[in-house]
Amino acid sequence: MSPRADAPAAATLHGPEPVTCLPGVGPTLAGRLAGMGIECVRDLWFHLPLRYEDRTRLTPIAQLAAGAPAQVEGRVAAVERGFRYRPLLRVALEDDSGATLTLRFFHFRAAQVAQFEPGAWFRAYGEVRYGSHGPEMVHPRYRRLAEQERGQVGDRLDPIYPAAEGVGQATLLRLVGRALDRLPAPEQLELLPTAVLAQLHLPSLDAALRTVHRPPVGSDLDAFARGVHPAQQRLAFEELLAHQLSLRRQRLSVRSAPAPRIQGPGRLAQALRRALPFRLTAAQRRVVAEVQADLKSREPMMRLVQGDVGSGKTVVAALAAARVIEAGHQVALMAPTELLAEQHAHNLAAWFAPLQIEPVWLSGKVKGKARSSALARIAAGAPLTVGTHALMQEGVGFARLGLAIIDEQHRFGVHQRLRLRDKGAAGEGVPHQLVMTATPIPRTLAMTAYADLDVSVIDALPPGRTPVRTVVIGAGRRGEVIERIRASGRAGRQVYWVCTLIEDSEEIDAQAAEATFQALCSQLPDLRVGLLHGRLKPAQKQAVMAAFQRGGLDLLVATTVIEVGVDVSNASLMIVENAERLGLAQLHQLRGRVGRGAEASTCVLMYQAPLSEMARQRLALLRRSNDGFEIAEKDLQLRGPGELLGTRQTGLPGFRIADLVRDARWLPAVRDASEALLAQAPATADALIERWVGAAERYAAA
Ligand code: ADP
Ligand code: MG
Repeated sequence: MSPRADAPAAATLHGPEPVTCLPGVGPTLAGRLAGMGIECVRDLWFHLPLRYEDRTRLTPIAQLAAGAPAQVEGRVAAVERGFRYRPLLRVALEDDSGATLTLRFFHFRAAQVAQFEPGAWFRAYGEVRYGSHGPEMVHPRYRRLAEQERGQVGDRLDPIYPAAEGVGQATLLRLVGRALDRLPAPEQLELLPTAVLAQLHLPSLDAALRTVHRPPVGSDLDAFARGVHPAQQRLAFEELLAHQLSLRRQRLSVRSAPAPRIQGPGRLAQALRRALPFRLTAAQRRVVAEVQADLKSREPMMRLVQGDVGSGKTVVAALAAARVIEAGHQVALMAPTELLAEQHAHNLAAWFAPLQIEPVWLSGKVKGKARSSALARIAAGAPLTVGTHALMQEGVGFARLGLAIIDEQHRFGVHQRLRLRDKGAAGEGVPHQLVMTATPIPRTLAMTAYADLDVSVIDALPPGRTPVRTVVIGAGRRGEVIERIRASGRAGRQVYWVCTLIEDSEEIDAQAAEATFQALCSQLPDLRVGLLHGRLKPAQKQAVMAAFQRGGLDLLVATTVIEVGVDVSNASLMIVENAERLGLAQLHQLRGRVGRGAEASTCVLMYQAPLSEMARQRLALLRRSNDGFEIAEKDLQLRGPGELLGTRQTGLPGFRIADLVRDARWLPAVRDASEALLAQAPATADALIERWVGAAERYAAA
């Protein structure tokens, strides 16, 4: 790294200037801009064009090519107003090439019509198409030319900005121009070390900003459209770096507080392990050892355990819990849904019963006396607590929380995770954290999404499982599917029928599931059918799950509430209705509910025709692959990281410029640069975080 002085730019030191310091920006416009996330002058620098229009050239009308945008000049040769099916204005422009172009308008005002005086010169920009009367443009941008303006064109491409109600292109063009006039001196603006820029062949920030806002004639518009122009890449790199720095900082600050050191013979863990009805896989043993090593340290553990559905993460967590409990500390396990949390409570209760440990249960639905009693036990130091988000609420206080376990991490945000950590009692230090996820995060993404975590991977399934066979069929073959369920029931095997989300409403989904349930009950009178959805009371849900678990039901009709964690090894057939509505990762999760026993299992993905090409590809991938990582990579490519991880929920930054898929190649360089900056130029690191992440947090809060 270059010996660049570690001094943040003046513009950052004095705080960013508000947009109101620009001429013409009063409270009304400032309010509208704020609605677009633009509050300071700096936000305008980073308000990048969506695309560009090339108005640096004039095309003779005779040479216009269909399908491409072009700019022409011509004199009004004829104007025709008509009403065929709707109002229509046609203006014929003729240029010196002798050819004619028709401008067509369907909405127009009288004043506009009056403007088109025969013989007057106009310039028009728009996409060309060929109608029955030769070339035409529909609703082009146009303006009337003064005599001396004819033939005069600019030497910059015109940026087209993301606009909003009351903040149009003209305003944005002007404001961004003014904002660029206020850029500090290039060396003051620059936060990246010169050596890094040179090594990566990236332009300075000053050059990059001026280029993206005002690309010179001859710029590679195709590169711009794909977001890979060096000027854009330079900004993307800086944004990725800032986010990486912010996550690294967070990690360092979390780790600077000591955690309880968990030592001891581990008798409890050994007893637990001996009582298990199976032997740990090699992958589980490796991860258990990694966790154990973390717990011995005074630095708080922050470990993500990643493992495909059914890889056996829960037992790894239970073994960690046993160690922490033996050392006299409390353990809390939090799961994202009531159903999953209940199932964990159930499993842990069974595993820990021989050790005389009974988990405390806490969810939002625990009220009144039961709640106060749970809170009292937690405050008094109960060794093990299992629950939902309710564990993070006000009023929940642990006496000496030593380990916080969070299941299905992708459902929780970074901030929520940190909140549970803050539940540790003062003086005891911060608790260790173990987070578990079945969403395989592609490596590239994991580095950015989880820069604050160490990652362990359980990369093998317990032995004796047969991979799930997946078939994709149209809903028209529902009858065959019903027959298959009947046969399965006769053979004593259990079946899931999953109703996908119709709307983002538990109520409506519950109704739809209810209707499917009724239909299946009458079509399959000799099967015992159960119904599970989010609107049932906890006791009802528990009863249904328990019945299915012990084999008292043959068919379980459920909404996607069963997506995570549900574990019934005799279930070997799953039908997913309207599978095309779900994401790949989610379907993979669902499918993981079957194939848990030694018996061969099948997952039927039923779709509603017609299937889009994208949906077809996605379903075909699921049929072909059982590899969660491959599926996640593909999902990432098809849908983007926000969808895969749930941007909002993960606290994964919503990038303004960078795109984790497109810009993944920068990630190694981003990591190196972030390490170097944190070690050698912490003030520059702060300035970068402030510039990019500070603003993102403001947006999120808005
Ligand atoms: P997930 O990783 O999806 O959370 P679970 O922890 O729910 O998986 O485990 C899935 C099932 O596999 C459970 O029934 C669990 O008891 C069982 N299991 C876990 N580890 C093993 C193992 N080593 N051998 C056999 N079965 C195991
Ligand atoms: Mg699980």
